[in-house]
Amino acid sequence: MSNVNLFYLTMVKRDISLLLPLNFVTMKTLNDYNFKNKKALIRVDFNVPLNDDFEVTDTTRIEAAKDTIIKVLEDGGSAVLMSHLGRPKGEQEEYSLKHICSKVSEILGVQTKFASNCVGPVAEDAVSRLENGEVLLLENLRYHEEEKKGDQKFAKQLSKLGDVYINDAFGTAHRAHASTTVVANYFEDKCVGYLLQKEIESLNKVLNNSTKPVTAILGGAKVSTKITVIENILDKIDHLIIGGGMTFTFIKAKGGKIGSSLVEEDKLDLALEIIEKAEEKNVQIHLPSDAIVADSFSEFANTNIEAVDNISDGWMGLDVGPKTLEEFKGVVLQSKTILWNGPLGVFEMEPFAKGTIELGNYIEEATEKGAFSLVGGGDSVAAVKQFGFENKVSYVSTGGGAMLEMLEGKKLPGIAALED
Ligand code: AMP
Repeated sequence: MSNVNLFYLTMVKRDISLLLPLNFVTMKTLNDYNFKNKKALIRVDFNVPLNDDFEVTDTTRIEAAKDTIIKVLEDGGSAVLMSHLGRPKGEQEEYSLKHICSKVSEILGVQTKFASNCVGPVAEDAVSRLENGEVLLLENLRYHEEEKKGDQKFAKQLSKLGDVYINDAFGTAHRAHASTTVVANYFEDKCVGYLLQKEIESLNKVLNNSTKPVTAILGGAKVSTKITVIENILDKIDHLIIGGGMTFTFIKAKGGKIGSSLVEEDKLDLALEIIEKAEEKNVQIHLPSDAIVADSFSEFANTNIEAVDNISDGWMGLDVGPKTLEEFKGVVLQSKTILWNGPLGVFEMEPFAKGTIELGNYIEEATEKGAFSLVGGGDSVAAVKQFGFENKVSYVSTGGGAMLEMLEGKKLPGIAALED
């Protein structure tokens, strides 16, 4: 096994004590530094969507990195930004970060320079000419296959481009790539950026410093993708609300009739085990009692409301029913800490979006009453954005896979690499 693989395995191995990736005692933050006359090499996540004219169609990720970059500039330093964009095979023009340079300038309010390579003489030369108060954006890291491989030499080349390393890319913090993890080994001075810090603190607030009662709401398609999350959070929550497609694996396991709803036959025993474990740990599981059923997986299907454990043959549950929503509302409104991952139904189709929308409303109401609510992981953010809940919950995580891995209790390599 290569050194790189060994390194990766060490970093991601599961360990409950490591659930304090969330422990800042051993990790420096931006406010521990003054960047006067310093060049900060910042790993940002500028993997933004572009349209056919190469215009940025969603600037959220650029805006999310702004505070960190501005802090460096205001201290009197300069910022060297590195990111990936898409999944290029070699140097494909359409994945060039040059397309987003003007948008970065506009959002930062600072004319951003561009280096057509992220390593080597082009990058080093551009960095050497960078003055305090200036920003340089490097070309797509993934033009080099060494990036994803976590190559040491490549990381060392990157490390020449700054005096201090800042990681502010939560979306890739679960990857042991050269720019997200390995490069940190070459820096004495390194820290988390504001965005990454906020992500870690928010999750910490839910998992480790939570105010009771704590409710986790897990929806989405399948149990199989959420098992490790469920197992890890059972020790930390009082209520577990289950919705979405995974409902039916639980209902079938309990002997219910689910028609042609989504089911993972090989996970029936596991569903029962989860129910048993939850009971042992005094966690109340709330499963739907009724469902909006449809006679096909289509927004034009005929629909009906049926008991979730007595669905007619040939019909499938695609959203939670009104009785379920009343029950879930009661649980959510009495919660003081709420974690939401995954929609309650097939929210992409209008007739099956109501459960997810209503749940968002209940979480909003609970948040207004003082609860801390965190939404994220997987595709949940898409639902939250589609229905405009972004500003109504306490925090929306920017990292799908990274957040799920943290919920699973894994220590993210990108965060571990910043520890002293
Ligand atoms: P995930 O990425 O696991 O959070 O799953 C999200 C997907 O689950 C969404 O695309 C939903 O359409 C889908 N989903 C939610 N409820 C159901 C359901 N009852 N049957 C099938 N798919 C569902």
